Amino acid sequence: MSQPDVSHHQLLVTLEGRDCDFCEGGTLERRSYKGNLAAVCGSCHTPAAQIW
Ligand SMILES: [Zn+2]
Repeated sequence: MSQPDVSHHQLLVTLEGRDCDFCEGGTLERRSYKGNLAAVCGSCHTPAAQIW
């Protein structure tokens, strides 16, 4: 059996709280985006990373 994908989780944790690259003052938040976990800007809602 495969283990939980720690690297994907780690990526989201790393991205969470970082400044958004696409707008001024936005911060990345962990949330679901189109049914997938992603790090999404809380201001402009641009996904910085998605887990497919
Ligand atoms: Zn943004």
